[in-house]
Amino acid sequence: MYIRFHREGQGLGQTRGVQAAKKILDGARRVTVLTGAGISTDSGIPDFRGPQGVWTRNPAAQNASTLTHYLNDPEVRRAAWRARLDSPAWQARPNVGHLALVDLERQGRLRALVTQNIDELHQRAGNDPALVIEVHGTMRRVVCWSCRREGPMEEALERVREGEEDPRCQRCGGIMKSATISFGQPLDPQTIMRAEVAAMSCDVLLAVGTSLGVHPAAGLVPLARQAGAEVVIVNAEATPYDSMAAAVVRGSISDVLPALVELPATPVDDLA
Ligand code: NAD
Repeated sequence: MYIRFHREGQGLGQTRGVQAAKKILDGARRVTVLTGAGISTDSGIPDFRGPQGVWTRNPAAQNASTLTHYLNDPEVRRAAWRARLDSPAWQARPNVGHLALVDLERQGRLRALVTQNIDELHQRAGNDPALVIEVHGTMRRVVCWSCRREGPMEEALERVREGEEDPRCQRCGGIMKSATISFGQPLDPQTIMRAEVAAMSCDVLLAVGTSLGVHPAAGLVPLARQAGAEVVIVNAEATPYDSMAAAVVRGSISDVLPALVELPATPVDDLA
């Protein structure tokens, strides 16, 4: 299964609001959450495709996330390592959106937290790592493309700081990359299967801060719907799956999510 980008149907969605979302979540006992880069923007990590996104501002930056470019072009790798040194993710702290999902877990209602994010902020916020399914891997590890040896990202970054522009595997000399899924790279079949099972065995699929443009992660939304779950989408912009959702909240995650998952019910007038 390969990661791909999809734009069809964008803009079909319609805001159906906070009240509907709150009502659906209040009644849910097993919530599978699907998060994207938007939940981490308030922690200072830019998304890719939002108005201030890394790729919106610099489309060429996508090359570093495309496997063939990364493997075949040493300049793309050097640029990727340089950019990684300065990533705001290393200083980032979880925000109230992440903490709201910890609350959901403490209420015993979190079936699974499927994340496209690679920043590990859900685990740092306090979600049980066993419930977090990282479908696109983690930026805090590196892997050798030849011998598959893994190690901490911090060690590789230290070598870059000391002058290695394109650090190689210390066991076999192979190309090293972050332990994340690039475009053109297969997802780990067991990880995506766990995510699919979680999408098919929940009352509500809550998609937060994702443009739902990257597959197969975005495909979890129709999968959950087909299995009988209600879909709730919280995102600043329209997504291709808004028309499938019972409720769409178009707003700031930090403003909306804590109140949406809070029990007992918050008076909806306070959320408007
Ligand atoms: P995306 O960039 O395609 O979409 C993010 C969406 O979040 C946008 O529609 C944007 O409008 C919305 N958004 C941003 N900030 C928001 C906020 N505060 N409140 C409400 N909505 C907000 O992200 P994606 O769908 O996750 O897909 C992009 C890929 O980028 C993923 O595969 C992920 O691995 C990777 N990525 C991860 C991180 C991270 O780990 N923090 C950051 C950038 C990109």
